[in-house]
Amino acid sequence: METTEVLVVGGGPAGSTCAAQLRQAGLDVQLMDSHRFPRHKPCAGWITPEVCELLDLDLTDYRSGRVLQEIRGFQTGLIDGALTETHYGSIVSYGILRSEFDHYLLQRSGVRLILGESMTSMERSAGYWIVNGHIRARIVVGAGGHFCPVARHLGASIGHEEVVAAQVAEFALGLQESNECTLKPGIPALLFCRDMKGYGWVFRKGNYINVGLGRLDNRDVGRYAREFCTLLKRKGFLPERSSVQLRGHAYRLFQISGGRRLVDDGVLLIGDSAGVAHAPSGEGILPSIKTGCMAADAIVSAHGDYRREKLASYSARLASHFGNGNGNYSDKTAFPGIKRIFIAHLFYSRYFTRNVVLDRWFLHAGR
Ligand SMILES: Cc1cc2nc3c(=O)[nH]c(=O)nc-3n(C[C@H](O)[C@H](O)[C@H](O)COP(=O)(O)OP(=O)(O)OC[C@H]3O[C@@H](n4cnc5c(N)ncnc54)[C@H](O)[C@@H]3O)c2cc1C
Repeated sequence: METTEVLVVGGGPAGSTCAAQLRQAGLDVQLMDSHRFPRHKPCAGWITPEVCELLDLDLTDYRSGRVLQEIRGFQTGLIDGALTETHYGSIVSYGILRSEFDHYLLQRSGVRLILGESMTSMERSAGYWIVNGHIRARIVVGAGGHFCPVARHLGASIGHEEVVAAQVAEFALGLQESNECTLKPGIPALLFCRDMKGYGWVFRKGNYINVGLGRLDNRDVGRYAREFCTLLKRKGFLPERSSVQLRGHAYRLFQISGGRRLVDDGVLLIGDSAGVAHAPSGEGILPSIKTGCMAADAIVSAHGDYRREKLASYSARLASHFGNGNGNYSDKTAFPGIKRIFIAHLFYSRYFTRNVVLDRWFLHAGR
């Protein structure tokens, strides 16, 4: 039986960030993931600059041999309407490939890795968790994404929660396809559904194209996504002959679904496992990293006493940062504060698309 102080289950951005911080604080940490890395993760791969700051990412080192697409503007509009182009004149975000990004962070964490093994069981025994019958840990951090088994252990009713459902495809462009594609690198297009329950995106980063669509209403999301791709081919944003292999995934948006139960004796949840992605953009990488940092702080501050009441500061800090999880989004559209029927009209206003859609909802301006 192997013994460790902390076992992190899941090697995405939440898990690798938390594990790295705990190791730096001198704790004995192991991280388990079902996959061997690099692994595929369904995602658009858009990160806001705060991600790079929080991770203290050396961008020169990162971009050598990896995709790091600078984003300086956007095209926005309704799916069946005209597009407005907004230019910032400076870098406002980056595009990465999740296979590269997650692998980089995991390697950088320097913790002991157990890869290619899924967590299937956790049992309490004499103040330890016995995981999969062969790892003994004082505390387990659930970072296994939306379907995290640790979240299930804390009572999450996975499969019965309100989620955003999304379909996405990412592929490299051949030379001819690259010449045919009219989408400019560094200027992603965001096209919103007329019922305001979601949006589609298409995004060129380096030699890759990422296309997808997410909706709060998961009925027919596959059909919406396929129709979206057909439309993009007509616009010339997707090469006509490209075969787009869409893959689906679902996750919670904190401001709509609320968070999950986060803490119990010797257990904490972070990232998508905690359900902290941001509405209305669906951004999940930044909140995952933030919760990874907050959880690491709480674990270090507990000084080995991992009873629920000692870890409660984590839930409190998360609530004070993200809110109570059922604030302004009660009409279940992806958009706060404004009645759904009026929003479609506002997309014709340059002021609205720049100051509200992009700056406030997607780029966190003023936060
Ligand atoms: C289509 C789509 C597009 C998105 N686009 C963006 C975007 O552009 N920008 C953005 O910020 N967010 C985006 N998100 C959200 C973002 O992908 C997630 O919020 C983010 O990946 C959460 O990180 P995480 O570390 O919590 O979990 P994940 O990245 O999901 O990592 C969880 C890890 O846990 C492992 N795991 C799962 N179960 C087990 C188990 N039983 N045992 C061991 N390991 C396990 C998995 O293999 C995985 O490696 C998107 C999501 C979707 C679905």
